[in-house]
Amino acid sequence: MNITIKKAEALKPRPKDSELGFGNIFTDHMFNMDYDPENGWHNPRIEPYHAINMDPSTMVLHYGQAIFEGLKAFRTEKDGIQLFRPKDNFSRMNLSARTMCIPEFDENLALNGLKELVKIEKDWVPQELGTSLYIRPTIVAMDPFLGVRASYTYRFFIILSPVGAYYAEGFNPVKIWVSKNHVRAVRGGVGFVKTAGNYAASLYAGEEANKKGYTQVLWLDGVEQKYVEEVGSMNIFFVIDNKLVTPELNGSILSGITRDSVICLAKKQNLEVTERRISIDEVFEVHASGKLQEVFGSGTAAAISPVGLIKYGDQTIQIGEKKVGPVAEKFFKDLTDIQYGKVEAPEGWIQKVID
Ligand SMILES: *Cc1c(COP(=O)(O)O)cnc(C)c1O
Repeated sequence: MNITIKKAEALKPRPKDSELGFGNIFTDHMFNMDYDPENGWHNPRIEPYHAINMDPSTMVLHYGQAIFEGLKAFRTEKDGIQLFRPKDNFSRMNLSARTMCIPEFDENLALNGLKELVKIEKDWVPQELGTSLYIRPTIVAMDPFLGVRASYTYRFFIILSPVGAYYAEGFNPVKIWVSKNHVRAVRGGVGFVKTAGNYAASLYAGEEANKKGYTQVLWLDGVEQKYVEEVGSMNIFFVIDNKLVTPELNGSILSGITRDSVICLAKKQNLEVTERRISIDEVFEVHASGKLQEVFGSGTAAAISPVGLIKYGDQTIQIGEKKVGPVAEKFFKDLTDIQYGKVEAPEGWIQKVID
């Protein structure tokens, strides 16, 4: 399928790298394609960035049939531009599509569309250390209809947002709060897919955590409220007795690409890594016995996010000495070195847009 291109007539002013935040500025163009039962996915196109015109009855606005992805393009030292594991994002997006009754799309077409789009927007990929171009592919249900069923029509779009260094103020451990009253996902639900409603469902507990002075919620499983699942919208890792432990994928945990990257890099470095159930009680026990060395989150936005303190009921534990541990530090460096092209990536992780 041919991707048609229509260029913007006037370009937006671009902010300085030092002024970039997260997700508030969008580039000049976007990728769009449409689905209807007769034509399937059709009319892939790059066009000037524009608002989507929707009838107030559009299904996504009412029943949340929406899926998305988050990935990044990085500017390398040699002024190339490269994508980190985009094929994994599009294959996860098709898993989300199947789960949410959305028709699957051609992953190669989406990847080609994305590469074309990033090429057109190359000047929007920031330069400064730690900055990147955040990429948001999304699919939403478009039928104007209030009955409850899967939509017949959909819009697929990709928008781009230059983002600042996540750790502009330093790579500091965050305080997290274990929610006893709320869960983000349950067995048999949709916790393992990137769908809008999972985020809506997480907001209340997130605000409660913020009000109490914590940065993120540590989510326990939705069945027994005993086992650790995720932290905020990141996967979670524990360093216990010089070994890495992360919750096993159980249907309510999202299969993070950063999580998979950490596991893969750990194995290459002969750091033992186990995917298994880990209860919050075990976390407190290994802390009491002096074996809990580090805790960190993993996700596209921050890569690695160290955790310094965990509060659960009226118990609080402090992890490490109020600074980033060596394991989190090493994974952050290893991942970002690969993303910025400073070291060779494992096979298949990097897609070059501009060499
Ligand atoms: C996106 C996401 C993650 C992290 O996934 P990455 O592919 O590493 O960015 C973790 N948990 C949730 C709930 C997510 O939505």
